[in-house]
Amino acid sequence: MAGLIPQHFIDELLTRTDIVEVINSRAPLKKAGHEYKACCPFHDEKTPSFTVSPGKQFYHCFGCGAHGTALGFLMEHDHMSFVEAIEELASMNGLEVPREEGAAPARSNDDLYQVLGAAADFYQSQLKDHAAAIAYLKGRGLTGQIAVEFCIGFAPDSWDALLGKLGKDEDGQRRLHLTGMVIERDGGGFYDRFRNRVMFPIRDTRGRFIGFGGRVLGEGEPKYLNSPETPLFKKGEGLYGLYEARQALRDIPRLLVVEGYMDVVGLAQHGIRYGVATLGTATTVQHLKQLFRVSNQVVFCFDGDRAGRAAAWRALENALPEMREGRDIRFLFLPDGEDPDSLVRAEGRAAFEKRIDGAMPFSEYLVKNLSDQVDMDSVEGRAAMAESARPLLGRIPTGVYREMLTQTVADAVGMAPAALAGVLSEESQRVRTARQGRTPVSRAEGRSTLARRAIGHLLANPHLAVGIDVPPALAESAQKGHQILVELIAQGQATPGLNTAALLERWRERPEGEHLQKLLHQRLDQLGQRKGFSPEGLKQEFKDLITRIGSQLSPERERILLAKMADEGLSSEEKEELRALHVARSEAPAEAGNEASGA
Ligand SMILES: [Zn+2]
Repeated sequence: MAGLIPQHFIDELLTRTDIVEVINSRAPLKKAGHEYKACCPFHDEKTPSFTVSPGKQFYHCFGCGAHGTALGFLMEHDHMSFVEAIEELASMNGLEVPREEGAAPARSNDDLYQVLGAAADFYQSQLKDHAAAIAYLKGRGLTGQIAVEFCIGFAPDSWDALLGKLGKDEDGQRRLHLTGMVIERDGGGFYDRFRNRVMFPIRDTRGRFIGFGGRVLGEGEPKYLNSPETPLFKKGEGLYGLYEARQALRDIPRLLVVEGYMDVVGLAQHGIRYGVATLGTATTVQHLKQLFRVSNQVVFCFDGDRAGRAAAWRALENALPEMREGRDIRFLFLPDGEDPDSLVRAEGRAAFEKRIDGAMPFSEYLVKNLSDQVDMDSVEGRAAMAESARPLLGRIPTGVYREMLTQTVADAVGMAPAALAGVLSEESQRVRTARQGRTPVSRAEGRSTLARRAIGHLLANPHLAVGIDVPPALAESAQKGHQILVELIAQGQATPGLNTAALLERWRERPEGEHLQKLLHQRLDQLGQRKGFSPEGLKQEFKDLITRIGSQLSPERERILLAKMADEGLSSEEKEELRALHVARSEAPAEAGNEASGA
């Protein structure tokens, strides 16, 4: 999506945009020093901990850990898509959104959406002529009205029913192939992917058809078959039933995540219109983001058997980075062998909703599951429980929710919360060392910590990149954090006026993007504690960090150069570098040696 809108336009837009103006019209801000404050629009609070920094063009909440740019705020707060948020900011600034020549995949995807819409129509029309399929749906207690609302259809038992209808020419075949509706034969030609199946079309949040799930009629393997990954259908993102839920309900106080299409449709048949299903995958962070855009409460529903409990725990682990004050996740376990569809048919809506009301809160499930694995009556057991809770707590964003959950776990093991919280992360350890009066940059710090600090500095102040010489050892380091740092420096140097928001937005579509936002959030937390930085001091601190990373890496770099010298020889530049490394090491042997081995 981002590829459609030229990068330079996004940069310019974020340079012109005033985040204070964007947020103030939605959550009134009060000036406090260099920043602005408000009661957080993302969680309930009485004293404002939601902070907007005009300098960084970034907001962050000390309470719930929410953070982001003006663009991110519009997406989270107004539930806009990326493109919608760009368009909103552009119109606030009186700008027209340009589109990149030649790229235009959105236009070319239009015909793919269109072919899936035609396929859904075709399957729906086929349903009328196939008594066995209708009998199956009636047997599951569905009325024609619900079948129409969910556009349920039928794929006939034929190798070329859909192909014959929509793949008459080469272009039609290409579209069916691109959307995964037909499979290419070894000897050339195609055949229908879905045969003799009741068809459940999957729509995106805008109601466009993006794929299908099919359940075989009668016996046959596999029982359930989904569309493969296509330009429109991404497995870790799609949610079956979310569009239909939003059509049926104005307000959605909670969403129930179930396993299958039939569960979603069966629940809807009984008036429970807020069921959604992930499509054959565990719940991902992408799913959770979509769910929380629609509702503040998400209830996961699982079978009570071993597989169901394992899936529930996986869902909990995946949800940790998304947990914050104001978001409510619960777990509902059904009796062994029952699914939501069978249960709601057997006991009706009221009884089933009573089960949902009694679902286990996130914190309770976490504590219960960890306690069940140890002997909580012994000191060793409680210590083991605390030990296994630590990494989980560490994955929750810093803020009120993490503190509350830490308290809950500490209560369960009979430990002081501070003792548990104090060892949550390297970062908090660093802060404690600093508070005890030692220099914050201690020798014991690992390389990754230094890189994280440098990245945090740079994100908060992109202009620091200007005039930095990246040491060759850093430039060629294979470590992920180093590569990100090097790329950020290059981005800052290539576009000198770049502000924090514009720099961050370049990473939105990449897996590291979320992590970078968190690093910045942490960095702003620390800055809040340490006032009075001069710009020169900041520049010097960043330079020192880069030099330190370079010298930490140099023994490694020296080894690489020595090996290369023995192997294929060195260029004159590399020879010079090796000599410089050698001199540097003999001047400061203790420091360089210690840090390399301590990392
Ligand atoms: Zn908040």
